[in-house]
Amino acid sequence: MTPPDTIFHKILRREISATVVFEDDEVLAFKDIHPKAPTHILFIAKKDADFVASIADLTDETAHVPALLIRKAQAFAKVHGIDGYQLKFHVGKAGGQEVFMLHLHFLSEQKLSS
Ligand code: AMP
Repeated sequence: MTPPDTIFHKILRREISATVVFEDDEVLAFKDIHPKAPTHILFIAKKDADFVASIADLTDETAHVPALLIRKAQAFAKVHGIDGYQLKFHVGKAGGQEVFMLHLHFLSEQKLSS
């Protein structure tokens, strides 16, 4: 089977550049290229086993992935002193989803300190 490939997989493999603002063993977070707020970050899971195209495709095996992304976003906000933000998943084409690798949008009117 051909492995899934989206622009975010290419960012994960460092084949195309992105402004990475956070990374650990589990997630990568980078600035959205077309920000809809002063701070607009996208969080994606790194592990192949955690690959999910969309919330619509979640299974019992992958149900932990949205919680992982939310937990990392929460920690990121704390580190940057951001106390007001929105977290969004676009689900399916009709829900505005363009990239079919599960990602969490983190939006805030507050700017990143660094
Ligand atoms: P969605 O509509 O939920 O699929 O969101 C996809 C997001 O990815 C959009 O907000 C785009 O602006 C963003 N995006 C697309 N290509 C890139 C890229 N190369 N680097 C950073 N963000 C991107």
